[in-house]
Amino acid sequence: MACVLVLGAGMVGTCTALHLQQRGHAVCLVDRGEPGRETSFGNAGLIQREAVEPYPFPRDVAKLLQVALGQATDVHYHLRALPGLVAPLWTYWRLSEPAQHARVAAAYARLIAHCLSEHQPLIEAAGAQDLVRREGFRKVYRSASALDRAVRDAARLSAAYGIGHAVLDTEALAQAEPALHRPLAGAVHWLDPWSVKDPGELVARYARLFEQRGGQRLRADAMSLQAHAGGWRVRQADGWLEADQVVVALGPWADALIRPLGYRLPLFVKRGYHQHYPGPRLNLPLLDAEQGYLLLPAARGTRLTTGAEFARMGTAATPVQMARAERRARELLDLPPALPEPPWLGSRPCTADMLPVMGPAPGHRGLWFNFGHAHQGFTLGPVAGRLLAEMMDGDVPFVDPAPYLPQRFM
Ligand SMILES: Cc1cc2nc3c(=O)[nH]c(=O)nc-3n(C[C@H](O)[C@H](O)[C@H](O)COP(=O)(O)OP(=O)(O)OC[C@H]3O[C@@H](n4cnc5c(N)ncnc54)[C@H](O)[C@@H]3O)c2cc1C
Repeated sequence: MACVLVLGAGMVGTCTALHLQQRGHAVCLVDRGEPGRETSFGNAGLIQREAVEPYPFPRDVAKLLQVALGQATDVHYHLRALPGLVAPLWTYWRLSEPAQHARVAAAYARLIAHCLSEHQPLIEAAGAQDLVRREGFRKVYRSASALDRAVRDAARLSAAYGIGHAVLDTEALAQAEPALHRPLAGAVHWLDPWSVKDPGELVARYARLFEQRGGQRLRADAMSLQAHAGGWRVRQADGWLEADQVVVALGPWADALIRPLGYRLPLFVKRGYHQHYPGPRLNLPLLDAEQGYLLLPAARGTRLTTGAEFARMGTAATPVQMARAERRARELLDLPPALPEPPWLGSRPCTADMLPVMGPAPGHRGLWFNFGHAHQGFTLGPVAGRLLAEMMDGDVPFVDPAPYLPQRFM
């Protein structure tokens, strides 16, 4: 039987392969490396049940000025990348207007709503419970005014989307996180999200589950994909592997594959860095919300992840945010020197309208897209995998796929 090819063994591709397999397809999961070693490896490890609203483009003039002058910790940009970003960022800006953003958020929240219930059976079947902490994470605020705004917003989100939160004042936060050596205004503790101490290992275990269930993994270059005899094929070491259907789940590399096929989608990347500091420090993940970096209690110590860097794929690392975030983190807790290795760099696969691209490629039979999950691809992998597998089988999908279909850009 011809197999379905899933190109890309990150969180999204691996979960797509698992769902197709569960529905009886023979699936071949193709990657040039091991599963979960790219973007899905280096992220902040949050399964973000609270992330019902995608990050809007900032509209506050002071914030924009800080970014433009290169003084922000959370956002950085390469001047040379800007010409290529004008068109997608213009759309992103327009859709961040409150009424438009509310429509985007409604579509996004319908996916996020299922993130825990879709991860749960996979975590169990993959024997990965030891990697997952189910106690939420805290967004901490340095100033009372920022905390006030956050508390109002958290109340709005909780009421609208049924997600749980608790508010901690200065004292309660100090008790919850004794490692903090300076009093802060307080925190919003999002109670529902989960965190994963080794995100790459979770993907590796999902991939192992796929293999244990009879799935095939192939090390090959997805860029060798060709239309062939009414189907598709990729080159492997000793010839070609053929398939009727192929799923592009290449995260930030998807654009490189689909452009030559004629698809010019408004895709761009927000790069991010991480570094590890030995020793446990925090009880739960902590987002320094006014500075825009996150600290994750991780398998290799404390993992510090940075915000968004607007740069072209493949250009050299410029970890200026890493240095700034590290300085800011040291204002809050005693971090030993980082492990002696260069900062990890990855690229969030983003779309101009803040929604992922999931569904049939409009111009090719048997070609399917599953990418563009931006800040929440680790969260959404199992949801995205199920949704795409249901569409491929012509079943009624568990979430209305209309807002995510590739044809919205045609
Ligand atoms: C700093 C940072 C923090 C983040 N924190 C979070 C978080 O806390 N929670 C969350 O939900 N999301 C988070 N994200 C976003 C999340 O990591 C991504 O959305 C997600 O990993 C994307 O998964 P993916 O499977 O689409 O892509 P990837 O994980 O990048 O997988 C793509 C795969 O394609 C393969 N590939 C590429 N080119 C080829 C080729 N030519 N041939 C064969 N294979 C190829 C790669 O090897 C890779 O395995 C974060 C991202 C960053 C950068």
